Amino acid sequence: MAEVKSTCCYCGVGCGVIIETTPSINGNLEVTGVRGDPDHPANFGRLCSKGSTLHLTANPSLQKQARLGLPAIRNARGEAPIDCTWPQAIKTVAKKFADIINEHGPESVGIYVSGQLLTEDYYVFNKLMKGLIGSNNIDTNSRLCMSSAVAGYKQTLGMDAPPCCYEDIDSASTIFITGSNTAFAHPILYRRLEDARKKNPDLKVIVVDPRKTDTAKEADLYLQIQPGTDVALYHGMLYIMLWEKWIDESYIKSYTEGFDALRDLVRDFTPKAVSEICGIKEKDLFQAAQWFARSPATLSMYCQGLNQSASGTAKNAALVNLHLATGQIGKAGAGPFSLTGQPNAMGGREVGGLANLLSAHRDLANPEHRAEVASLWGVHSVPEKPGLSAIPMFEALRTGSLKAIWIVCTNPAQSMPDLNAVHEGLSKAEFVVVQEAYAHTATTLYADVLLPATTWAEKVGTVTNSERRISKVNAAIDPYESAKHDWRIALEIGHALEALLSGNRIEGVSTLFPYSGPEDIWNEHRESTRGRDLDITGLSYQILEDRGPQQWPMPKGSYFGKKRLYENGVFPTKDKKAHFIAAPYKATAESVDARYPFALNTGRLRDQWHGMSRTGTVGTLYAHSPEPCVELSPKDAGRMNLENGDLVHVTSRRGSEIFPVKVSEDIASSQAFIAMHWGSEFISGAAGKTPSRGVNGLTCNLIDPVSGQPELKHSAVKILPANLP
Ligand code: SF4
Repeated sequence: MAEVKSTCCYCGVGCGVIIETTPSINGNLEVTGVRGDPDHPANFGRLCSKGSTLHLTANPSLQKQARLGLPAIRNARGEAPIDCTWPQAIKTVAKKFADIINEHGPESVGIYVSGQLLTEDYYVFNKLMKGLIGSNNIDTNSRLCMSSAVAGYKQTLGMDAPPCCYEDIDSASTIFITGSNTAFAHPILYRRLEDARKKNPDLKVIVVDPRKTDTAKEADLYLQIQPGTDVALYHGMLYIMLWEKWIDESYIKSYTEGFDALRDLVRDFTPKAVSEICGIKEKDLFQAAQWFARSPATLSMYCQGLNQSASGTAKNAALVNLHLATGQIGKAGAGPFSLTGQPNAMGGREVGGLANLLSAHRDLANPEHRAEVASLWGVHSVPEKPGLSAIPMFEALRTGSLKAIWIVCTNPAQSMPDLNAVHEGLSKAEFVVVQEAYAHTATTLYADVLLPATTWAEKVGTVTNSERRISKVNAAIDPYESAKHDWRIALEIGHALEALLSGNRIEGVSTLFPYSGPEDIWNEHRESTRGRDLDITGLSYQILEDRGPQQWPMPKGSYFGKKRLYENGVFPTKDKKAHFIAAPYKATAESVDARYPFALNTGRLRDQWHGMSRTGTVGTLYAHSPEPCVELSPKDAGRMNLENGDLVHVTSRRGSEIFPVKVSEDIASSQAFIAMHWGSEFISGAAGKTPSRGVNGLTCNLIDPVSGQPELKHSAVKILPANLP
């Protein structure tokens, strides 16, 4: 038996794992076990239900059913794809992309990547699109996940960086969990919080969530707010802090800007008004404000409940305001800590793998930044115009302005909101490339070319977790059949495109992709960070192996990375101060009304991950929640004479789906909850008539104007008994 240290490929906690392999009868190594890495500072040996069953997903017989083993070309939509060689697949993709670019321009193609990719993969795709093709049309499923947190941090603190670390959970005296079911979505962090409570019985935990989640049930104070009223809540807390003189005037004066405008704005958010808007008791609002402001150290932990909203940036900024107003930042146990959903959404942001970003947190709008990146890459220029972000990208497929899309390591035909429109876009697209490890996703059905990619236990590279910690990912087994690494596929198509496109390369640069392995890519990325806020010039693959995972920044000469940011009160803004944002409170983008009276919320289950491509192959993970359902309050179920298991039509302005009912005390009246995981691969159509899309057949695609993140957490729906024969 052999062992290899690596990282869990599911959530942004970024737990270290030890992969156990054994030679099979044919001599190949097989993954036979996995356990937590006791030396990894994210988890110290612990794993949750998903992480501890990772080895089962690499089981050879499961792989045979689930994996994509050979590249394939589909001659016509609706026909079965025909296996081909890698050179045929590469040539087909490069030629078709080049033809479309030559005819319609570089903005007629797009690449849609994923927060599950490694940093090295992300880097090559970003360079391919922005450096070689000459368009910024590259975006990622992280747009659905963290982009409001990015925008909130940048507006207030000056850079996209969670200032906290996991150790802060151990030293906080109040933990304010808002818009996060941490117990399900980040289980190992929640275990750490449970340990902290055992050690410190005075630790206060406040949970804000419209749904009474497992996290909310353990809170010392639970605020069951009305959906989407977070900004009003935070402004109301600040009103009380001002009234009671609990704000930190000295911190505000020394280290911040813009408090007067915010003070003026929150005058209207009286306890009475906020209690009515949010549907909570004034005394609970007061208690939350008191614990937050008066505690020696307050840590906020938040996730999609804030981010997946058409007001996501305002929600993030309003929460950061509270930390700045009370000086609860830049010290042990305190700060606004955005928990990252995906395993490497952070790494993707670091290399600038979004339609509006450039490498190493550079801004597309800044001509100096564009020139720096062009010089680093050896190209004449990087385009100025922001590319299409996720929602507009699929809309552009539907309207025809985007002709071709290359989808990498993600399943937008299940995970995007308003799926009927997304499927229409994919059907109309002139050319769809799907690069995937798994054969049977809702998106692979649309692929004109299928490119089999390697996945966990086969890949080498790095990921960055929620606390800015870069960890090594290592391979324990060979790639499945003829699957290739994501960066390698991008490089090979990049080389083929270099021969077909008139060049943006400057003279003397023979290729933009001179990499023989992931370390070459990582070294180039590292160089791009020199002198930037996320400088990692003091880090190398060897140091990661020798000293373990490290947090950025870690400039040359540092022995370890930086645990916590802004301890000196200096912020990376022009005036070196943090900025309050006077964000007005706005109701949800799609209001409930007489026709659509239920507020539909979506979220994660404990034992499934995203579209279940991987976790859906593990039988034991089903035991926790074996089928999709719509959760309704006892009051609403009783009113409609519904019991557990009864089928209902759930209908929004965009579609209708059938789900069995689960009556739950955790849901407030006039609200409903459906887990995000189940899609067409797992749900048969309504009475066999139409293909089911899962919950995203219903969700709305209205986006935050700053971050571009869609409002996946709130759609107006009606619910009626299905009365099926
Ligand atoms: Fe993996 Fe997240 Fe579970 Fe850790 S908490 S084992 S990273 S899924």
